[in-house]
Amino acid sequence: MSTEAPATDAPLSPDPSGWEMVIGLEVHCELRTATKLFCGCRNEFGSPANTNVCPVCLGLPGSLPVINQMAVEYAMRIGLALHCHVEPSIFHRKNYFYPDMPKDYQVSQYDQPINLDGWLDLPGGTRIGIERAHMEEDTGKTTHVGGGGRIHDAGYSLVDYNRAGVPLVEIVSRPDLRSSADARSYVDELRSVLVATGASDGKMEEGSLRVDANVSVRAAGSAELGTRCEIKNMNSLRSLGRAIEYEAARQIALLSDGGRVVQETRHWNEAEGTTRSMRSKEEAFDYRYFPEPDLVPLAPSASWVAAVAYALPPMPAERRARVAAATGLDGDSDSVVTVVRLDLDSFVMAAVDVGADGALAVRRLANEVAAHLDGARPLDPDAFCRLLLLESQGKLTTAQAREVLRRLLSQGGSDPAAVAAALGFEAMGAGDLGDAVDGVIAANPAEWARFAAGEDKLQGFFIGKVKAATAGKADLKAVSALLRERRA
Ligand code: ADP
Ligand code: MG
Ligand code: ZN
Repeated sequence: MSTEAPATDAPLSPDPSGWEMVIGLEVHCELRTATKLFCGCRNEFGSPANTNVCPVCLGLPGSLPVINQMAVEYAMRIGLALHCHVEPSIFHRKNYFYPDMPKDYQVSQYDQPINLDGWLDLPGGTRIGIERAHMEEDTGKTTHVGGGGRIHDAGYSLVDYNRAGVPLVEIVSRPDLRSSADARSYVDELRSVLVATGASDGKMEEGSLRVDANVSVRAAGSAELGTRCEIKNMNSLRSLGRAIEYEAARQIALLSDGGRVVQETRHWNEAEGTTRSMRSKEEAFDYRYFPEPDLVPLAPSASWVAAVAYALPPMPAERRARVAAATGLDGDSDSVVTVVRLDLDSFVMAAVDVGADGALAVRRLANEVAAHLDGARPLDPDAFCRLLLLESQGKLTTAQAREVLRRLLSQGGSDPAAVAAALGFEAMGAGDLGDAVDGVIAANPAEWARFAAGEDKLQGFFIGKVKAATAGKADLKAVSALLRERRA
Protein backbone atom coordinates (compact mmCIF):
# COMPACT_ATOMS: atom_id res chain seq x y z
CA MET A 1 0.00 0.00 0.00
CA SER A 2 1.66 3.20 -1.00
CA THR A 3 0.98 6.25 1.09
CA GLU A 4 -0.10 8.81 -1.49
CA ALA A 5 0.09 12.51 -0.91
CA PRO A 6 -2.93 14.35 -2.33
CA ALA A 7 -2.61 14.67 -6.12
CA THR A 8 -2.42 18.39 -6.55
CA ASP A 9 -0.18 20.80 -8.37
CA ALA A 10 -0.35 23.20 -5.45
CA PRO A 11 3.02 23.17 -3.74
CA LEU A 12 3.00 21.03 -0.64
CA SER A 13 4.28 23.40 1.95
CA PRO A 14 5.60 21.71 5.03
CA ASP A 15 8.49 23.53 6.63
CA PRO A 16 11.50 22.43 4.55
CA SER A 17 13.99 23.75 7.08
CA GLY A 18 15.54 20.99 9.09
CA TRP A 19 15.42 18.62 6.10
CA GLU A 20 18.08 17.77 3.58
CA MET A 21 17.52 16.43 0.07
CA VAL A 22 19.65 13.52 -1.14
CA ILE A 23 19.69 12.79 -4.86
CA GLY A 24 21.44 10.18 -6.98
CA LEU A 25 20.97 10.18 -10.75
CA GLU A 26 20.97 7.38 -13.30
CA VAL A 27 21.63 8.76 -16.77
CA HIS A 28 21.11 6.60 -19.85
CA CYS A 29 23.11 7.79 -22.81
CA GLU A 30 22.64 6.44 -26.34
CA LEU A 31 25.93 6.02 -28.14
CA ARG A 32 26.48 7.60 -31.56
CA THR A 33 27.61 4.41 -33.24
CA ALA A 34 26.68 3.80 -36.88
CA THR A 35 25.20 0.40 -35.97
CA LYS A 36 23.57 -1.32 -32.99
CA LEU A 37 25.35 -3.01 -30.08
CA PHE A 38 25.13 -6.64 -31.20
CA CYS A 39 24.12 -6.54 -34.89
CA GLY A 40 24.75 -4.53 -38.05
CA CYS A 41 21.39 -2.69 -38.09
CA ARG A 42 21.63 1.06 -38.41
CA ASN A 43 21.45 3.11 -35.22
CA GLU A 44 19.40 6.04 -36.43
CA PHE A 45 16.76 8.25 -34.83
CA GLY A 46 13.60 8.92 -36.82
CA SER A 47 13.66 6.12 -39.46
CA PRO A 48 10.27 4.65 -40.46
CA ALA A 49 9.14 2.16 -37.78
CA ASN A 50 10.68 -1.32 -37.84
CA THR A 51 13.02 -0.66 -40.75
CA ASN A 52 16.28 -1.03 -38.78
CA VAL A 53 15.73 -4.56 -37.52
CA CYS A 54 17.18 -8.06 -38.05
CA PRO A 55 16.96 -11.51 -36.42
CA VAL A 56 19.51 -10.54 -33.74
CA CYS A 57 17.82 -7.39 -32.45
CA LEU A 58 14.39 -9.01 -32.83
CA GLY A 59 15.62 -11.88 -30.66
CA LEU A 60 14.72 -14.59 -33.16
CA PRO A 61 15.75 -18.15 -32.17
CA GLY A 62 19.19 -19.19 -33.32
CA SER A 63 20.54 -15.66 -33.83
CA LEU A 64 23.75 -14.73 -32.03
CA PRO A 65 25.12 -11.36 -30.89
CA VAL A 66 28.51 -9.96 -31.95
CA ILE A 67 29.73 -6.98 -29.96
CA ASN A 68 30.29 -3.61 -31.65
CA GLN A 69 33.88 -2.52 -31.08
CA MET A 70 33.09 1.16 -31.47
CA ALA A 71 30.45 0.93 -28.73
CA VAL A 72 33.08 -0.49 -26.37
CA GLU A 73 35.44 2.31 -27.32
CA TYR A 74 32.78 4.96 -26.68
CA ALA A 75 31.95 3.37 -23.32
CA MET A 76 35.62 3.54 -22.37
CA ARG A 77 35.84 7.17 -23.47
CA ILE A 78 32.92 7.99 -21.20
CA GLY A 79 34.41 6.09 -18.27
CA LEU A 80 37.84 7.66 -18.67
CA ALA A 81 36.39 11.16 -19.06
CA LEU A 82 34.61 10.56 -15.74
CA HIS A 83 37.86 9.39 -14.09
CA CYS A 84 36.66 5.78 -13.72
CA HIS A 85 38.83 2.66 -13.85
CA VAL A 86 38.19 0.56 -16.93
CA GLU A 87 37.82 -3.01 -15.70
CA PRO A 88 37.43 -6.42 -17.32
CA SER A 89 33.67 -6.88 -17.50
CA ILE A 90 30.96 -9.33 -18.45
CA PHE A 91 27.40 -9.06 -19.72
CA HIS A 92 24.33 -10.36 -17.89
CA ARG A 93 20.80 -11.06 -18.97
CA LYS A 94 18.26 -8.96 -17.06
CA ASN A 95 15.01 -10.88 -17.43
CA TYR A 96 11.65 -9.19 -17.55
CA PHE A 97 8.70 -9.16 -19.89
CA TYR A 98 7.69 -6.05 -21.76
CA PRO A 99 6.41 -5.87 -25.33
CA ASP A 100 9.08 -3.42 -26.42
CA MET A 101 11.79 -5.94 -25.59
CA PRO A 102 11.54 -8.78 -28.10
CA LYS A 103 13.96 -11.14 -26.31
CA ASP A 104 12.23 -10.80 -22.92
CA TYR A 105 15.60 -9.99 -21.45
CA GLN A 106 17.92 -7.04 -21.76
CA VAL A 107 21.63 -7.61 -22.21
CA SER A 108 23.22 -5.41 -19.58
CA GLN A 109 26.11 -5.37 -17.16
CA TYR A 110 25.49 -6.18 -13.53
CA ASP A 111 28.16 -6.82 -10.92
CA GLN A 112 31.17 -6.50 -13.25
CA PRO A 113 30.63 -3.27 -15.21
CA ILE A 114 33.21 -1.86 -17.62
CA ASN A 115 33.72 1.47 -15.75
CA LEU A 116 33.93 1.79 -11.97
CA ASP A 117 34.38 4.49 -9.43
CA GLY A 118 34.94 7.96 -10.88
CA TRP A 119 33.78 11.51 -10.37
CA LEU A 120 32.47 14.63 -12.06
CA ASP A 121 33.07 18.18 -10.79
CA LEU A 122 30.17 20.63 -11.13
CA PRO A 123 31.11 24.09 -12.49
CA GLY A 124 30.78 25.49 -8.95
CA GLY A 125 33.41 22.98 -7.75
CA THR A 126 31.30 20.34 -5.97
CA ARG A 127 32.61 16.85 -6.70
CA ILE A 128 29.96 14.20 -7.42
CA GLY A 129 30.99 10.57 -7.19
CA ILE A 130 30.29 8.19 -10.08
CA GLU A 131 29.54 4.65 -8.93
CA ARG A 132 29.72 2.99 -12.33
CA ALA A 133 29.12 3.55 -16.04
CA HIS A 134 28.09 0.28 -17.61
CA MET A 135 27.05 -0.87 -21.09
CA GLU A 136 23.64 -2.22 -22.04
CA GLU A 137 21.25 -2.37 -24.98
CA ASP A 138 18.24 -0.10 -25.41
CA THR A 139 14.67 -1.38 -25.73
CA GLY A 140 12.17 -0.67 -28.51
CA LYS A 141 9.49 1.97 -28.21
CA THR A 142 5.79 1.45 -27.54
CA THR A 143 3.16 3.97 -28.57
CA HIS A 144 -0.31 3.72 -27.06
CA VAL A 145 -2.90 4.92 -29.56
CA GLY A 146 -6.07 6.61 -28.36
CA GLY A 147 -7.09 7.55 -24.82
CA GLY A 148 -4.54 10.33 -24.61
CA GLY A 149 -1.59 7.95 -25.06
CA ARG A 150 -2.07 6.21 -21.71
CA ILE A 151 -1.94 2.43 -21.77
CA HIS A 152 -5.12 1.94 -19.70
CA ASP A 153 -7.34 4.01 -21.97
CA ALA A 154 -5.65 3.23 -25.31
CA GLY A 155 -7.47 1.42 -28.12
CA TYR A 156 -4.33 -0.43 -29.15
CA SER A 157 -0.55 -0.15 -28.93
CA LEU A 158 2.15 -0.06 -31.60
CA VAL A 159 5.72 -1.14 -31.12
CA ASP A 160 8.78 0.03 -33.03
CA TYR A 161 11.93 -2.09 -32.66
CA ASN A 162 14.30 0.35 -34.38
CA ARG A 163 15.70 1.33 -31.00
CA ALA A 164 15.94 -2.26 -29.69
CA GLY A 165 19.63 -3.09 -29.39
CA VAL A 166 20.93 0.47 -29.68
CA PRO A 167 24.01 0.77 -27.44
CA LEU A 168 23.63 2.62 -24.15
CA VAL A 169 25.91 3.57 -21.34
CA GLU A 170 24.20 4.03 -17.98
CA ILE A 171 26.02 6.42 -15.70
CA VAL A 172 25.10 5.95 -12.04
CA SER A 173 26.04 8.74 -9.64
CA ARG A 174 26.59 8.33 -5.93
CA PRO A 175 23.91 9.94 -3.76
CA ASP A 176 26.03 13.09 -3.53
CA LEU A 177 23.64 15.70 -4.91
CA ARG A 178 21.86 17.93 -2.38
CA SER A 179 19.50 20.16 -4.39
CA SER A 180 17.51 20.24 -7.60
CA ALA A 181 19.82 22.99 -8.87
CA ASP A 182 22.83 20.71 -8.34
CA ALA A 183 21.02 17.86 -10.09
CA ARG A 184 20.38 20.07 -13.12
CA SER A 185 23.92 21.33 -13.11
CA TYR A 186 25.20 17.73 -12.93
CA VAL A 187 23.15 16.65 -15.95
CA ASP A 188 24.18 19.74 -17.87
CA GLU A 189 27.85 19.17 -17.14
CA LEU A 190 27.59 15.44 -17.82
CA ARG A 191 25.91 16.17 -21.15
CA SER A 192 28.80 18.47 -22.12
CA VAL A 193 31.29 15.77 -21.15
CA LEU A 194 29.43 13.12 -23.16
CA VAL A 195 29.31 15.37 -26.22
CA ALA A 196 33.00 16.26 -25.80
CA THR A 197 33.97 12.57 -25.82
CA GLY A 198 32.18 12.18 -29.15
CA ALA A 199 30.22 9.26 -27.72
CA SER A 200 26.82 10.97 -27.67
CA ASP A 201 24.88 13.77 -29.31
CA GLY A 202 23.45 14.64 -25.85
CA LYS A 203 19.95 15.34 -27.18
CA MET A 204 17.50 15.05 -24.30
CA GLU A 205 14.57 15.95 -26.57
CA GLU A 206 15.29 12.99 -28.88
CA GLY A 207 15.77 10.66 -25.92
CA SER A 208 19.53 10.18 -26.45
CA LEU A 209 19.91 11.26 -22.85
CA ARG A 210 17.39 10.01 -20.28
CA VAL A 211 17.55 10.76 -16.60
CA ASP A 212 16.02 8.86 -13.65
CA ALA A 213 16.25 10.59 -10.30
CA ASN A 214 16.53 8.81 -6.95
CA VAL A 215 15.29 11.16 -4.25
CA SER A 216 15.23 10.83 -0.48
CA VAL A 217 15.16 13.29 2.39
CA ARG A 218 16.67 13.14 5.86
CA ALA A 219 16.98 15.32 8.94
CA ALA A 220 19.67 17.90 8.24
CA GLY A 221 22.94 16.76 9.76
CA SER A 222 21.95 13.10 9.79
CA ALA A 223 24.54 10.71 8.37
CA GLU A 224 22.04 8.00 7.45
CA LEU A 225 20.31 7.85 4.09
CA GLY A 226 16.53 8.00 3.98
CA THR A 227 14.34 5.67 1.91
CA ARG A 228 14.44 6.73 -1.74
CA CYS A 229 11.97 6.83 -4.58
CA GLU A 230 13.06 6.60 -8.19
CA ILE A 231 11.40 9.13 -10.49
CA LYS A 232 11.08 8.44 -14.20
CA ASN A 233 9.82 10.28 -17.26
CA MET A 234 11.44 13.70 -17.05
CA ASN A 235 12.39 14.87 -20.50
CA SER A 236 14.03 18.19 -19.89
CA LEU A 237 16.27 19.75 -17.27
CA ARG A 238 13.35 21.88 -16.22
CA SER A 239 11.12 18.89 -15.52
CA LEU A 240 13.99 17.18 -13.70
CA GLY A 241 14.20 20.15 -11.33
CA ARG A 242 10.43 20.35 -10.86
CA ALA A 243 10.10 16.60 -10.27
CA ILE A 244 12.82 16.58 -7.61
CA GLU A 245 11.29 19.57 -5.82
CA TYR A 246 7.83 18.01 -5.86
CA GLU A 247 9.06 14.63 -4.71
CA ALA A 248 11.19 15.98 -1.85
CA ALA A 249 8.27 18.12 -0.64
CA ARG A 250 5.98 15.07 -0.81
CA GLN A 251 8.38 13.00 1.28
CA ILE A 252 8.90 15.80 3.81
CA ALA A 253 5.14 16.19 4.19
CA LEU A 254 4.75 12.46 4.66
CA LEU A 255 7.51 12.17 7.26
CA SER A 256 6.45 15.34 9.10
CA ASP A 257 3.05 13.74 9.41
CA GLY A 258 4.48 10.65 11.06
CA GLY A 259 4.24 8.55 7.87
CA ARG A 260 7.03 6.73 6.12
CA VAL A 261 8.35 6.72 2.57
CA VAL A 262 7.84 3.50 0.64
CA GLN A 263 10.64 2.62 -1.77
CA GLU A 264 9.07 2.60 -5.19
CA THR A 265 9.28 3.82 -8.76
CA ARG A 266 7.22 6.95 -9.45
CA HIS A 267 6.14 8.51 -12.71
CA TRP A 268 6.53 12.27 -13.25
CA ASN A 269 3.42 13.81 -14.77
CA GLU A 270 4.55 16.94 -16.59
CA ALA A 271 1.07 18.40 -17.05
CA GLU A 272 0.01 17.94 -13.43
CA GLY A 273 3.42 18.70 -11.98
CA THR A 274 3.23 15.67 -9.70
CA THR A 275 4.77 12.22 -9.23
CA ARG A 276 2.58 9.14 -8.93
CA SER A 277 3.34 5.63 -7.81
CA MET A 278 4.09 3.43 -10.82
CA ARG A 279 5.22 0.18 -9.26
CA SER A 280 6.93 -1.04 -6.14
CA LYS A 281 10.68 -1.17 -6.52
CA GLU A 282 12.00 -4.34 -8.13
CA GLU A 283 14.79 -6.09 -6.30
CA ALA A 284 17.73 -7.44 -8.25
CA PHE A 285 16.44 -11.00 -7.72
CA ASP A 286 13.23 -10.11 -9.54
CA TYR A 287 15.32 -9.88 -12.70
CA ARG A 288 16.96 -13.30 -12.33
CA TYR A 289 20.27 -11.94 -13.62
CA PHE A 290 22.61 -14.53 -15.09
CA PRO A 291 25.75 -14.23 -17.25
CA GLU A 292 24.96 -13.88 -20.96
CA PRO A 293 26.16 -17.22 -22.37
CA ASP A 294 26.42 -15.97 -25.97
CA LEU A 295 29.05 -13.31 -25.26
CA VAL A 296 32.63 -13.70 -24.09
CA PRO A 297 33.98 -11.52 -21.26
CA LEU A 298 35.00 -8.05 -22.33
CA ALA A 299 38.60 -7.39 -21.37
CA PRO A 300 40.07 -4.42 -23.26
CA SER A 301 43.87 -4.64 -23.39
CA ALA A 302 45.89 -2.12 -21.41
CA SER A 303 47.21 -0.67 -24.66
CA TRP A 304 43.69 -0.16 -26.02
CA VAL A 305 42.63 1.61 -22.82
CA ALA A 306 45.76 3.75 -22.93
CA ALA A 307 45.17 4.66 -26.58
CA VAL A 308 41.59 5.70 -25.83
CA ALA A 309 42.71 7.77 -22.83
CA TYR A 310 45.44 9.42 -24.89
CA ALA A 311 43.06 10.39 -27.68
CA LEU A 312 40.45 11.98 -25.40
CA PRO A 313 39.97 15.65 -26.26
CA PRO A 314 39.98 18.24 -23.46
CA MET A 315 36.85 18.14 -21.30
CA PRO A 316 34.61 21.17 -20.63
CA ALA A 317 36.17 21.99 -17.25
CA GLU A 318 39.61 22.24 -18.81
CA ARG A 319 38.25 24.26 -21.74
CA ARG A 320 36.52 26.69 -19.37
CA ALA A 321 39.79 27.15 -17.51
CA ARG A 322 41.52 27.84 -20.81
CA VAL A 323 38.94 30.47 -21.82
CA ALA A 324 39.25 32.02 -18.37
CA ALA A 325 43.02 32.24 -18.64
CA ALA A 326 42.82 33.78 -22.13
CA THR A 327 40.17 36.38 -21.29
CA GLY A 328 40.52 37.17 -17.61
CA LEU A 329 36.90 36.11 -17.05
CA ASP A 330 35.80 33.73 -14.30
CA GLY A 331 35.69 30.16 -15.61
CA ASP A 332 32.46 29.45 -13.70
CA SER A 333 30.67 32.56 -15.01
CA ASP A 334 27.49 31.93 -16.96
CA SER A 335 28.86 33.31 -20.21
CA VAL A 336 32.00 31.14 -20.14
CA VAL A 337 29.96 28.06 -19.20
CA THR A 338 27.55 28.82 -22.07
CA VAL A 339 30.30 29.34 -24.63
CA VAL A 340 31.93 26.00 -23.80
CA ARG A 341 28.59 24.17 -23.57
CA LEU A 342 27.74 25.39 -27.07
CA ASP A 343 31.18 24.35 -28.31
CA LEU A 344 32.06 27.93 -29.28
CA ASP A 345 35.27 28.28 -27.28
CA SER A 346 37.45 27.83 -30.36
CA PHE A 347 36.09 31.20 -31.55
CA VAL A 348 37.30 32.83 -28.34
CA MET A 349 40.76 31.35 -28.73
CA ALA A 350 40.89 32.45 -32.38
CA ALA A 351 39.86 35.99 -31.38
CA VAL A 352 42.50 36.19 -28.67
CA ASP A 353 45.10 34.91 -31.15
CA VAL A 354 44.52 37.84 -33.51
CA GLY A 355 44.61 40.36 -30.68
CA ALA A 356 40.84 40.97 -30.40
CA ASP A 357 39.19 41.52 -27.03
CA GLY A 358 38.57 38.03 -25.59
CA ALA A 359 35.95 39.16 -23.07
CA LEU A 360 34.06 40.92 -25.86
CA ALA A 361 34.25 37.70 -27.90
CA VAL A 362 32.73 35.73 -25.02
CA ARG A 363 29.94 38.29 -24.66
CA ARG A 364 29.04 38.22 -28.34
CA LEU A 365 29.15 34.40 -28.44
CA ALA A 366 27.10 33.89 -25.27
CA ASN A 367 24.45 36.35 -26.50
CA GLU A 368 24.03 37.03 -30.22
CA VAL A 369 25.67 33.83 -31.46
CA ALA A 370 24.02 31.58 -28.88
CA ALA A 371 20.63 33.06 -29.77
CA HIS A 372 21.10 32.34 -33.47
CA LEU A 373 22.54 28.85 -33.37
CA ASP A 374 19.47 27.05 -34.61
CA GLY A 375 19.14 27.13 -38.35
CA ALA A 376 21.86 29.72 -38.63
CA ARG A 377 24.64 29.65 -41.19
CA PRO A 378 27.91 28.42 -39.78
CA LEU A 379 29.81 31.42 -38.51
CA ASP A 380 33.18 32.02 -40.20
CA PRO A 381 35.72 32.35 -37.34
CA ASP A 382 37.83 34.73 -39.36
CA ALA A 383 34.86 37.03 -40.06
CA PHE A 384 33.93 36.91 -36.37
CA CYS A 385 37.44 38.00 -35.35
CA ARG A 386 37.58 40.83 -37.90
CA LEU A 387 34.21 42.08 -36.71
CA LEU A 388 35.46 42.20 -33.11
CA LEU A 389 38.44 44.24 -34.25
CA LEU A 390 36.21 46.69 -36.16
CA GLU A 391 34.19 47.15 -32.99
CA SER A 392 37.11 47.57 -30.59
CA GLN A 393 38.84 49.99 -32.99
CA GLY A 394 35.71 52.14 -32.88
CA LYS A 395 34.98 51.67 -36.59
CA LEU A 396 31.59 50.24 -35.71
CA THR A 397 29.44 51.09 -32.72
CA THR A 398 28.32 48.31 -30.41
CA ALA A 399 24.82 48.42 -31.86
CA GLN A 400 26.17 48.28 -35.42
CA ALA A 401 28.56 45.43 -34.63
CA ARG A 402 25.74 43.39 -33.14
CA GLU A 403 23.60 43.99 -36.21
CA VAL A 404 26.45 42.97 -38.55
CA LEU A 405 26.92 39.82 -36.46
CA ARG A 406 23.23 38.97 -36.75
CA ARG A 407 23.50 39.37 -40.55
CA LEU A 408 26.55 37.11 -40.69
CA LEU A 409 24.63 34.51 -38.69
CA SER A 410 21.44 34.63 -40.71
CA GLN A 411 22.89 35.15 -44.19
CA GLY A 412 26.46 33.89 -43.94
CA GLY A 413 29.36 35.87 -45.35
CA SER A 414 33.04 36.26 -44.70
CA ASP A 415 33.55 40.03 -44.87
CA PRO A 416 32.07 42.00 -41.96
CA ALA A 417 33.27 45.33 -43.42
CA ALA A 418 31.29 44.64 -46.60
CA VAL A 419 28.20 43.68 -44.58
CA ALA A 420 28.58 46.89 -42.57
CA ALA A 421 28.92 48.96 -45.73
CA ALA A 422 25.83 47.33 -47.26
CA LEU A 423 23.91 48.29 -44.12
CA GLY A 424 25.09 51.88 -44.51
CA PHE A 425 27.32 51.60 -41.43
CA GLU A 426 30.31 53.24 -43.11
CA ALA A 427 33.16 53.67 -40.72
CA MET A 428 33.16 57.01 -39.02
CA GLY A 429 36.79 58.13 -39.05
CA ALA A 430 38.26 59.66 -35.90
CA GLY A 431 38.68 62.98 -37.72
CA ASP A 432 35.01 63.12 -38.77
CA LEU A 433 33.93 62.29 -35.27
CA GLY A 434 36.13 65.04 -33.83
CA ASP A 435 34.61 67.53 -36.28
CA ALA A 436 31.11 66.48 -35.28
CA VAL A 437 31.94 66.91 -31.58
CA ASP A 438 33.48 70.33 -32.18
CA GLY A 439 30.43 71.38 -34.19
CA VAL A 440 28.11 70.45 -31.35
CA ILE A 441 30.28 72.26 -28.79
CA ALA A 442 30.29 75.43 -30.93
CA ALA A 443 26.51 75.31 -31.34
CA ASN A 444 25.86 74.99 -27.57
CA PRO A 445 28.28 77.39 -25.85
CA ALA A 446 26.25 77.89 -22.64
CA GLU A 447 25.89 74.14 -21.98
CA TRP A 448 29.54 73.61 -22.83
CA ALA A 449 30.62 76.23 -20.30
CA ARG A 450 28.64 74.45 -17.59
CA PHE A 451 29.99 71.03 -18.62
CA ALA A 452 33.53 72.42 -18.70
CA ALA A 453 32.95 73.82 -15.19
CA GLY A 454 32.26 70.30 -13.96
CA GLU A 455 28.53 69.76 -14.45
CA ASP A 456 28.95 66.10 -15.47
CA LYS A 457 25.31 65.35 -16.06
CA LEU A 458 25.51 67.43 -19.25
CA GLN A 459 27.62 64.68 -20.85
CA GLY A 460 24.40 62.92 -21.86
CA PHE A 461 23.15 66.12 -23.51
CA PHE A 462 26.28 66.33 -25.69
CA ILE A 463 26.29 62.64 -26.52
CA GLY A 464 22.68 62.94 -27.66
CA LYS A 465 23.50 65.93 -29.87
CA VAL A 466 26.48 64.15 -31.47
CA LYS A 467 24.40 61.05 -32.00
CA ALA A 468 21.78 63.15 -33.84
CA ALA A 469 24.41 65.05 -35.82
CA THR A 470 25.98 61.80 -37.06
CA ALA A 471 22.72 59.99 -37.72
CA GLY A 472 23.59 57.39 -35.11
CA LYS A 473 26.91 56.38 -36.66
CA ALA A 474 29.11 57.71 -33.89
CA ASP A 475 30.62 55.28 -31.42
CA LEU A 476 29.32 56.58 -28.13
CA LYS A 477 32.33 55.47 -26.13
CA ALA A 478 34.58 57.37 -28.50
CA VAL A 479 32.30 60.44 -28.20
CA SER A 480 32.54 60.50 -24.42
CA ALA A 481 36.29 60.10 -24.62
CA LEU A 482 36.46 63.08 -27.01
CA LEU A 483 34.22 65.17 -24.78
CA ARG A 484 36.44 64.52 -21.79
CA GLU A 485 39.51 65.32 -23.88
CA ARG A 486 38.04 68.65 -25.09
CA ARG A 487 37.08 69.61 -21.55
CA ALA A 488 40.48 68.85 -20.05
P1 ADP B 1 18.68 0.41 -8.74
O1 ADP B 1 18.95 -0.68 -9.69
O2 ADP B 1 18.04 0.01 -7.48
O3 ADP B 1 18.07 1.60 -9.37
P2 ADP B 1 21.23 1.56 -9.04
O4 ADP B 1 22.50 1.12 -8.40
O5 ADP B 1 21.03 1.42 -10.49
O6 ADP B 1 20.10 0.86 -8.22
O7 ADP B 1 21.02 3.08 -8.72
C1 ADP B 1 20.83 3.56 -7.46
C2 ADP B 1 20.84 5.07 -7.54
O8 ADP B 1 20.19 5.57 -6.40
C3 ADP B 1 22.24 5.66 -7.51
O9 ADP B 1 22.29 6.78 -8.35
C4 ADP B 1 22.41 6.06 -6.06
O10 ADP B 1 23.27 7.16 -5.91
C5 ADP B 1 21.02 6.45 -5.67
N1 ADP B 1 20.70 6.28 -4.27
C6 ADP B 1 20.95 5.20 -3.50
N2 ADP B 1 20.45 5.38 -2.26
C7 ADP B 1 19.86 6.60 -2.25
C8 ADP B 1 19.15 7.37 -1.26
N3 ADP B 1 18.93 6.90 -0.04
N4 ADP B 1 18.68 8.58 -1.63
C9 ADP B 1 18.87 9.05 -2.86
N5 ADP B 1 19.52 8.38 -3.83
C10 ADP B 1 20.02 7.17 -3.52
MG1 MG C 1 18.25 1.92 -11.33
ZN1 ZN D 1 19.56 -5.88 -35.84
